[in-house]
Amino acid sequence: MSTRGTSLPRNPDWRDQAACLVESRDPEDFFPAGTTGIHLIQANDAKAFCRGCPVALTCASWAIQHRVSDGIYGGLTESQRRRITRRGHLTDDEITDLVKAAWGRDIRNPLVEAYLNNSVQGSSGHVWWRRRATTISVAGRVFTPAQLAFGVGHGREPDGHVKATCGQPFCVAAEHLADSTLRRRAPARATA
Ligand SMILES: [Zn+2]
Repeated sequence: MSTRGTSLPRNPDWRDQAACLVESRDPEDFFPAGTTGIHLIQANDAKAFCRGCPVALTCASWAIQHRVSDGIYGGLTESQRRRITRRGHLTDDEITDLVKAAWGRDIRNPLVEAYLNNSVQGSSGHVWWRRRATTISVAGRVFTPAQLAFGVGHGREPDGHVKATCGQPFCVAAEHLADSTLRRRAPARATA
């Protein structure tokens, strides 16, 4: 939810209770410029904030009904909302159920939680792994930090060895990592 486009006079409604407006959060916090690395962290911070908002459900439903194309509303990203609108016409109750289901899936994504809890944002977009251990066990599987970061950022299993392409061999920023498939596609790509 954000203050973008809400500067015109309007009648009192649910927006008056929206935590982001009541607390005057920076609207940009709810509009990540991408979906991986630092943007993923930003999106998750915004979603966590929305979870404490008293009108999150109304906000998410409103954004779905109005086909709002970008930004985080009621704890859901644009792509999460699109997954719901793609189902065609839905009643208010159906939208409510689908929003709640999407929230539930989000909170239970252990890979995202493990990545966010164990990494720290560095300068120049690099991300550093905070733990000493070279592997982490999540949901019954063992990952290297780079494998975990790649899976979270790219939404798929890495193919072969995951390497940083930014010149920082220990960087685990999802958008700085490439697996064999990506390296074949763009052998000289450098994102530093
Ligand atoms: Zn990097």
